[in-house]
Amino acid sequence: MSWSTFLGDGESYLASFPKLNRWINRCVACGRVGHKPELPEHVGQPHFNLGASTLRRLFEPLEVDENGVCDQCQLANERLKANAPDQQA
Ligand SMILES: [Zn+2]
Repeated sequence: MSWSTFLGDGESYLASFPKLNRWINRCVACGRVGHKPELPEHVGQPHFNLGASTLRRLFEPLEVDENGVCDQCQLANERLKANAPDQQA
């Protein structure tokens, strides 16, 4: 398997290096996958420095809240609430 196999295919990269999943966020609402904003420059063993830069190439940064919901879904949820009619009996 060559490195180019991983281009554009983050899931198979993660399947090959499951430890990198700790640097990955998945939105529980929409299923978006991205790397954590706090992803350090280098992760893993000293001889395996490609991990972090490969994650940056394959994934967008993705922040999720304490419920595992991404910012887009939080926004959508807030808009839904804002557009919802006041609770009327
Ligand atoms: Zn989402």
